[in-house]
Amino acid sequence: MSKAVFPPEAVGLRAAAIEAMRQAYAPYSRLAVGAAILATSGEIFAGCNVENAAFPVGLCAEATALGALVTRLGGTRVRAALVIVEGPEKAWPCGACRQRLWEFALADTVVYATTLAGEWSSRPLVQLLPLGFGPHNLKTSE
Ligand SMILES: [Zn+2]
Repeated sequence: MSKAVFPPEAVGLRAAAIEAMRQAYAPYSRLAVGAAILATSGEIFAGCNVENAAFPVGLCAEATALGALVTRLGGTRVRAALVIVEGPEKAWPCGACRQRLWEFALADTVVYATTLAGEWSSRPLVQLLPLGFGPHNLKTSE
């Protein structure tokens, strides 16, 4: 699925993610990452990685994009997410971000991974986090 025509829903996501990626604070990894999330409302929220000298404190681009989404819309659902990197290889969300996305996902939420050169792939989130732990696991019976 590389170099094929981008799906229409991913075009706006890609543009937003590229703009966010250009703001990345990545002095340690030197890998700028941008992410964009399509809410069910149709709005797009973007984020970039924010590294920190205390490495575990850093934030992934997906996390900052989700923070923007929740700040604006609360706990809305995510229709699609896209991750773009400056490097030559596509990068999928890390394990923690797959879990973060899962919290707001629909059954058919799609994740795109792309590069500036235009390579891209997509996968259903459920394929990236099979048997994920989610809000349904914490519901108490009444
Ligand atoms: Zn991550």
